[in-house]
Amino acid sequence: MNLLRNWYFVQTAAINPAAQNTAFDDKVMGELIRFVAAHEVGHTLGLPHNMGSSVAYPVDSLRSPYFTATHGTAPSIMDYARFNYIAQPGDGVKNLSAKIGEYDVWSIVYGYKPIPEALSAAAERKVLNTWIKEKAGNPVFRFGAQQWRTIDPSSQTEDLGNDAVRASQFGIANLKRILPKLIEWSSEEAKNYEDLRELYNQIFGQLGRYMGHVTNNIGGVYKYSKTYDEEGVVYRHVPKEKQQKAMAFLNKELFDTPDWLIVPEVLDRIEATGIVTRLLNFQKRYLNSLFDKSRTDRLMEAQATEGDKAYALTDLFADVQNGIWSELKSSEAIDAYRRNLQRAYIQKMASLMKSTEDQSDVKAVVRFMLKRLIKEINTNITKQSNPISSFHLEDILERIDEILNPERK
Ligand SMILES: [Zn+2]
Repeated sequence: MNLLRNWYFVQTAAINPAAQNTAFDDKVMGELIRFVAAHEVGHTLGLPHNMGSSVAYPVDSLRSPYFTATHGTAPSIMDYARFNYIAQPGDGVKNLSAKIGEYDVWSIVYGYKPIPEALSAAAERKVLNTWIKEKAGNPVFRFGAQQWRTIDPSSQTEDLGNDAVRASQFGIANLKRILPKLIEWSSEEAKNYEDLRELYNQIFGQLGRYMGHVTNNIGGVYKYSKTYDEEGVVYRHVPKEKQQKAMAFLNKELFDTPDWLIVPEVLDRIEATGIVTRLLNFQKRYLNSLFDKSRTDRLMEAQATEGDKAYALTDLFADVQNGIWSELKSSEAIDAYRRNLQRAYIQKMASLMKSTEDQSDVKAVVRFMLKRLIKEINTNITKQSNPISSFHLEDILERIDEILNPERK
């Protein structure tokens, strides 16, 4: 019930008065338990998770009161579809959860409806295949398997809608509405700040889900299961333009310090110290994920097979480096959060150079990018009026030299 409370709060409180406190009334809690119970009963009837369900609904539909009242947040209760974090104040959306949907009803028909005219398993299979083909290509009836390391970004947990970037932008807009109200909505006489701490952590957690959903579009490969007698292929790369948008989102919402999270009125009630490290660790998690070997391997393969149509390994490195080092173009002072992030980037490049993996372009690209960075720092360093920014850049030049010329040490 605490899990449900936290999800409902952090995903809907911006638009939902019933979630603007820490102890919901019984009617609301009952509805939330119904949501989980329906999913679990689905398992007892034999239904697996369908993480490819929520992508069937366009982001804009999830802002429509009529659509969400009739369809919920996903066509299947067996997705990890959460409460509607996309709907914005003023949209008028009232039904905020997923319910037993068209996909679930159809799955039960597929699994349980007797086929009396079929006298053998082989004959039954023929009939079942005609049923499958009736629904083929309709996203409402699509199945997407649960993944442990996400390759297919259209089959993710905890996401909603058909566009992770736009969905996450709406989700972040709502988190920015919740955070300033966090003390007011969690307050209770004679209570300590444990709920405030927990809900603040939930805001970080929910933001992390958005970052993960978007990150997985980079180097992503969709899987739409098909058989020989259906049109088209099974695996398709995420289009280049979509990957570029995902990267632009990460530069804006993750690497450009998300300073809206730094709220002293809240932090001074829940911890002695820690926000600087917490933000850095948050950014590092997705920085590591972006340069994960399986992702860089997929980017190299996409370029090898699709050429210029692909979002390439070099695009990833250039886009991340341009975002994390944007002060070298603007000549703005580099603040403490960004200095931390820039050092983390250099550490990441160092670890990529130390990797024992040799059948890969990664080291060649790292070397090229670091040499480019040296030039950009040398051009910019005299324009930095802030002393600590200059010290930082001098230090970075030394660190890069150690990476590129380890024998000089
Ligand atoms: Zn489950």
